[in-house]
Amino acid sequence: MPAERDRLEYLEALGIDVWVPRGQASEPATVLADTTVSTDILMPDWEELRAAVAGCTSCRLHQHRTQTVFGVGDRDADWMIIGEAPGVEEDRRGEPFVGRAGKLLDEMLRAVGLDRSTAFIANILKCRPPNNRDPSADEAAACRGYLERQIDMIKPRLILAVGRIAAQQLLHSDSPVGRMRGRVHSLNIRQVPVVVTYHPAYLLRSPSQKRKVWEDLCLARQIVEESQT
Ligand code: URA
Repeated sequence: MPAERDRLEYLEALGIDVWVPRGQASEPATVLADTTVSTDILMPDWEELRAAVAGCTSCRLHQHRTQTVFGVGDRDADWMIIGEAPGVEEDRRGEPFVGRAGKLLDEMLRAVGLDRSTAFIANILKCRPPNNRDPSADEAAACRGYLERQIDMIKPRLILAVGRIAAQQLLHSDSPVGRMRGRVHSLNIRQVPVVVTYHPAYLLRSPSQKRKVWEDLCLARQIVEESQT
């Protein structure tokens, strides 16, 4: 955990100047069973999975990618952060969330004592959609097994879904983020709690929403802490 002074600096970087005591910012940590995730038939290990992703041609996105973006961080992480899809910079570097939004995501994580090496960060899609358009349903479906296998192997205590696409895809919902955030969802079969929050790219455009993200992070941290006791 960063020292208190560091934490306050991170909060300041997020534009948040008041500490929100644990428990006040969030709803009760009720886990709602609201989605079903299919069971994998093939069970590749981590390196087999990485190789399968690197060579994947299951959807049209392989035609234009520089490289796949498998995910980064700790394979035994308590927190798994799931975003939408690689952008230009991520496609170039092969790592998720390395652009401007990624820098803000890093600040968000530091605010709760994490960095990208202690969480695991991945996306709904492993390949960049052209012109950063939304993933199509068939692209998300083609990629889903890879993410599910990562979730199975990492066994996170919590998934933080950042942004509409990640939340809707993971939870099979068409609700807006504003309606999904503030409570705890569950990936049904795997029983992994899911907290939804706004995408850091949205926060760059709407900094006034940072307080809500901080509340979501507090809720997520509460879930992780409760699961450790
Ligand atoms: N936005 C995402 O959702 N994921 C990334 O990896 C980068 C930007």
